[in-house]
Amino acid sequence: MLILVTGGAGYIGSHTVKALRQAGHSPLVLDDFSSGRRAVVEDTLRVPFVEGRVGDGALVRSLLTGDHPACAGQRVEAVIHFAGRSIVGESWQRPAEYYGSNVSEALSLLQAVVEVGAAAASGPAPFIFSSSCAVYGLPRTLTLTEDHPLEPINPYGRSKRMVEELIRDLALAHGLPSIILRYFNAAGADPDGEIGEVHDPETHLIPRVLDAMTGRSPFLQIFGDDFDTPDGTGIRDYTHVCDLAEAHLLAVNRLLLRRAAPAADGAPVPFRTLVYNLGTGQGASVQEVIEAAKAVTGRGLLAHVAPRRGGDPPRLVACADRARGELGWEPRRSDLPTILADAWRWHQALPGR
Ligand code: UDP
Repeated sequence: MLILVTGGAGYIGSHTVKALRQAGHSPLVLDDFSSGRRAVVEDTLRVPFVEGRVGDGALVRSLLTGDHPACAGQRVEAVIHFAGRSIVGESWQRPAEYYGSNVSEALSLLQAVVEVGAAAASGPAPFIFSSSCAVYGLPRTLTLTEDHPLEPINPYGRSKRMVEELIRDLALAHGLPSIILRYFNAAGADPDGEIGEVHDPETHLIPRVLDAMTGRSPFLQIFGDDFDTPDGTGIRDYTHVCDLAEAHLLAVNRLLLRRAAPAADGAPVPFRTLVYNLGTGQGASVQEVIEAAKAVTGRGLLAHVAPRRGGDPPRLVACADRARGELGWEPRRSDLPTILADAWRWHQALPGR
């Protein structure tokens, strides 16, 4: 089945592309390679791809209808939308870029999906959206359920919340079968060592810990050791990127089962968008990540305590019971030793590490 994956050259996108292919689907990547890397899709995964923007309506329509040569005559049966900008700090410096890329372009994509769907006997193609725990803002409860209020505290989180709202409204009006996946902290790498995390600049904890261990950076900064947590450092719910990828497969399958053809009079059947947290329910502190990394790599590192990063909550941990219960999702590689062993294997293979 042909599945359009926007941002399929990025970190979570590329792992999902690999999982889709392993499950027998045909992923087709749309990426502008602004942060994702062409070599990942062209040389490593060797999947069909189109270089272009999600906001290019004519291009996206030609992909959805199967008229574009990259579709090899097949219609797109589902859309997984990863493309967008994802660095919280940058979203404060360049908010227009974030709203433009994450919101305006997503709206253009969604419009294309519902328009093409309106002309199709089976209605709009199922749509899966990469959201984030950043939509919750500062947690009011120890673990976050999907019903926690959405009070994002930065432009990145607000852009994700806006797209969630767009999706819900379009789903009700046009019967768009849709799932919103809210990721907690994506981490780790493909266990085969083919693909992994490469961000430039790298802001995430685990690759930075590993960089400090290989000497690529002189030391690690621990952003705050005075949080209200047992060891004072921030707690996050690290989830293996392959487990996240697996959740997308389950989401596609669930939507394909629920896809409803328009009623006899042609009116769309409203769809209530499904929302799932993807996390483990287990938090780990910065200190715990450092200790686990030492155990896995056998290396040490220099770490200095630095001031807190603006807007970093003390603790972000998912309640992912709904994804487990309704999607049958079971994180398999999301324990810290496995995450770190996979990340370390990938990290060592990177040039300059
Ligand atoms: N962190 C840190 N030093 C770093 C990068 C991150 O202490 O160089 C901390 C950060 O304050 C947070 C946790 O590690 O408590 C995870 O941060 P990351 O940027 O990986 O993900 P976020 O939760 O911000 O999306």
